[in-house]
Amino acid sequence: MLEEKKIVHNNHLLTDEILNNCIHCGLCLPTCPTYALTSLEQSSPRGRIRLIRAALDGDQPISKEFIYEMNFCLDCQACETACPAGIKYGSLVETARDLIHQSKKNSLTERILKKFFLTWTFARHERLKFMARLLRWYQTAGPQAVLEKSGLLKLISKKLNTIQLLAPRISKVFTSEVLDEIILPQSEVTHTVVFLTGCIMDVAFAEINEDTIRLLLHHGCKVVIPKGQRCCGSLQAHNGDSEGAREHARYTIELFAQFNPDYIVMNSAGCGAFLKQYGELFDDDPVMRSKAQFISQRTVDVTEFLIRTGFIQSQKKYSTRYAGKRITYHDACHLIHSQKISEQPRELIRSVPGIEYVELPEASWCCGSAGIYNITHIDQSMHFLKRKIENIRKINPDIILMGNPGCMLQMQFGLRNAGLQIELLHTVTFLRRICEA
Ligand code: SF4
Ligand code: SF4
Repeated sequence: MLEEKKIVHNNHLLTDEILNNCIHCGLCLPTCPTYALTSLEQSSPRGRIRLIRAALDGDQPISKEFIYEMNFCLDCQACETACPAGIKYGSLVETARDLIHQSKKNSLTERILKKFFLTWTFARHERLKFMARLLRWYQTAGPQAVLEKSGLLKLISKKLNTIQLLAPRISKVFTSEVLDEIILPQSEVTHTVVFLTGCIMDVAFAEINEDTIRLLLHHGCKVVIPKGQRCCGSLQAHNGDSEGAREHARYTIELFAQFNPDYIVMNSAGCGAFLKQYGELFDDDPVMRSKAQFISQRTVDVTEFLIRTGFIQSQKKYSTRYAGKRITYHDACHLIHSQKISEQPRELIRSVPGIEYVELPEASWCCGSAGIYNITHIDQSMHFLKRKIENIRKINPDIILMGNPGCMLQMQFGLRNAGLQIELLHTVTFLRRICEA
């Protein structure tokens, strides 16, 4: 039985009062992908809140069912957007995962995987780069091609084969290795921005990072890319390691604060959502809390930043490269649900003359990527992806834009399997090309 009916998470008390805010109206149910898949109450946000409530009361042990349901949840936060009572569902489920993590009742395989990825690989950026180089060797020096051609991996394990196909293509060079710490625009400086190079973005999406920096320079920004960056802590927080998350957050806060930026610009939805939460992580430490709030208040998604600083109005010339193209946009969960950013990217895209913008049906329905969910829950993840691909088929676009690397990998995989020749681009890549930045 848990003492005093409370769970401590990131130094927040999840009290009876917070959980009691749920009025059990069920408005969140139609927005929940896991409920849509099973039609089971315990796989819905309302059902999971009841399970957490029971765990808090000591009526529900950290059972297999509890662990399954908390991990089955995508943490997509679509339920948060739908909830009239303002339940912070994302914090609840992350707290429940923290509780599971502390209880050490999750499976041995899961604990080993988490230890290896979250505590070792992502804890130091040099280690992540080392792993990325190994993966690059596997992808480019022949082993992957041999295994694929022979069908051996498929024979050994279908799941393992899917995982290796979902893995990102490692970039030839990493952003953190080639760029100066401070880059000035050719025009007068309008804003000083710190740019987070990210973990996966740095090693597997270096071209998107480059597109983002070029776009920021084109917009008159002095771009600061602090040396020594590491994981912002979001991966740890989403996977139940709140202490690890705080440690990474503390490091990033101290590093970024030195540059006193006007804005901290993100091109990865999950990292942006987490930096915006930094202010809530240090309730027990007033000095750190104030530094964390400074960082959170200045953190913006790149599309949010461009709209706020008059990017559209300042553009004089657009390329006609995509004239006549049918373009749509997919909402990453951590942009639309966590950060409430949906209009800004659409406004930027629609401002480009000559394109045909078309809305994607269920654009905000999770594609099933969800951090490492597509590795830990492959079958369920593929089900969510199938629904996304069916919606894409309905409108048959030439290009799909989005603002999160995880979604890009997942959807690339889905389109390839479905035999669809549709270009996938990050919104910044599209804008950079259009502006010829
Ligand atoms: S919408 Fe909000 S209040 Fe209603 S059941 Fe879902 S979580 Fe509870
Ligand atoms: S976060 Fe997503 S998957 Fe989890 S309960 Fe909410 S809507 Fe369902």
